[in-house]
Amino acid sequence: VKPDELVPPADGGPLTTDVVIVGAGAAGLYLAARLPEGLDVVVVDKGGADPDPGSSSWAQAGLAAAVGPGDDPDLHVVDTLAAGDGLCDPIAVETLAREAPGHVHLLFQRGARFDHDGQRFALAREGGQQVARSVRRADATGAELIRVLRELAAPRVSRLGGIARRLARDETGRVTGLWVAIGDGLVGVRARAVVLATGGCGALYAATTNTSHATGDGLALAADAGAALRDIEFVQFHPTALAVGDSRRFLLTEGLRGAGATLHDADGRRFLADVHPDAELAPRHVVANAILDLPEGTAWLDATGLSAERLAAEFPTALAGAAAHGFALGDERVPVSPAAHYHMGGVRTDLDGRTSVHGLYACGEVASTGVHGANRLAGNSLSEALVFGARTATALAADLPERLGELGDAPPVGEVEADVPTIAAAMREAMLGDAGPVREGEGLVHLDDLLARWIGELGHPGPDVASVQLAHALRASQLLVRAATLRTESRGGHRRADFPARSAMWDGVHLELVAGAVTLS
Ligand SMILES: Cc1cc2nc3c(=O)[nH]c(=O)nc-3n(C[C@H](O)[C@H](O)[C@H](O)COP(=O)(O)OP(=O)(O)OC[C@H]3O[C@@H](n4cnc5c(N)ncnc54)[C@H](O)[C@@H]3O)c2cc1C
Repeated sequence: VKPDELVPPADGGPLTTDVVIVGAGAAGLYLAARLPEGLDVVVVDKGGADPDPGSSSWAQAGLAAAVGPGDDPDLHVVDTLAAGDGLCDPIAVETLAREAPGHVHLLFQRGARFDHDGQRFALAREGGQQVARSVRRADATGAELIRVLRELAAPRVSRLGGIARRLARDETGRVTGLWVAIGDGLVGVRARAVVLATGGCGALYAATTNTSHATGDGLALAADAGAALRDIEFVQFHPTALAVGDSRRFLLTEGLRGAGATLHDADGRRFLADVHPDAELAPRHVVANAILDLPEGTAWLDATGLSAERLAAEFPTALAGAAAHGFALGDERVPVSPAAHYHMGGVRTDLDGRTSVHGLYACGEVASTGVHGANRLAGNSLSEALVFGARTATALAADLPERLGELGDAPPVGEVEADVPTIAAAMREAMLGDAGPVREGEGLVHLDDLLARWIGELGHPGPDVASVQLAHALRASQLLVRAATLRTESRGGHRRADFPARSAMWDGVHLELVAGAVTLS
């Protein structure tokens, strides 16, 4: 967002606005751009000096929309339902598939430089797609999308740099605004509607393709306000993250495999052909599980069959990212392993972004619209951000109450004595070990105890970003672990060592958490 930067009022009083959006990724920005003219809109973003804090700018392969030859929305529905492994909401999927092409065409008209030969889009084919369906700009699609969305949203919004600390509610339970930690204090923002567009939770794990900001804040904020969370045990681990580096792993896009790159075990064998008829283009969880079953949990990606010209033209991001770690993608096989990538579950919404709490909306990765079920089809998250971001804008504008509500008391601010970076690092390791791609009951129970202990040690966070973010991360982890403990089966992106099979008993059953209570729906 072009910073029409807001300065908190000097008297310590609250800011007021019509709509406050938490998060400046694809979902938040598209929603902002789609709100009716005349509304006052504030975007809160914790990214600070980081120009690309969310996942959106880093998205590589593309956004799924049935705009190519041989494709149609019905086929997109079929592929999405197959990936979702029995837990998608078919109406949400249909909505995504039918509406995504319109948003792609609109953004193209408004200046998005997607690859196009003058007649039609040049599409990428990714895992689980029966035909090429991902609209892209080489392998840096997210950066282009965010460039356009920032341009479209900039005239409409003011930016408030800070981390959303807690949602405010009135005596009827309606969300009336929020408290934002900025500098060394809390600033209240009164609003007629609040939108969570806070992205995912990959950074709860010690190996992730996400930035360090993806700490599941929206889950913690929503749960604290009494909103229902759904399917949050389902985390997608991308099979081909570069198996070197620190917590944040460089992603080698599925588009490479779509273009013909292959996966090999340490003996050079193409092991996926034995696992699934689509081999390298099998759904992500199939590929990830097959890699985890290899002795080292690491496979070797071979893109040497792609010409140097093709790699340079279509995969410049992959070439540069591999080179930054000392690998020549065109000349050698590179080691890859699964890393936390995407959160299927989230804050439950209807088809128009409404959560179960009045005045609170959610869209993008933080939301559970019902599109992804137990596993997300490649390309569907950016499309979901656009389709449901736009729908949320329309619904929210129609729902706006006449008057602003009261914020009530500010949340307590603690004097943090705990070692925040050490707890954060220990949490990420523990989450990867016990709530990662392979889980089992005993480990989850132990992890739940650890998380409760760290939450106690931290106490009330201070006003600083690091301690507020850790508080959100610990709470989000705790909720995720509780849901993961309860789902006693292996399905979609979720694998239980103690319940290795998919269970018919769980077919179509969703786990919901509301104010600490669990319901099945
Ligand atoms: C490397 C990579 C490649 C990917 N490739 C693809 C792809 O090719 N196709 C596809 O469909 N999907 C892809 N994805 C997934 C996709 O990018 C994300 O799901 C999507 O961009 C999420 O958009 P969003 O707007 O919901 O959240 P984000 O873009 O993550 O934005 C979240 C925003 O919320 C802010 N925020 C969070 N918490 C707070 C808080 N408490 N207070 C204030 N601000 C807060 C953050 O600073 C950020 O601005 C990829 C993801 C990664 C990491």
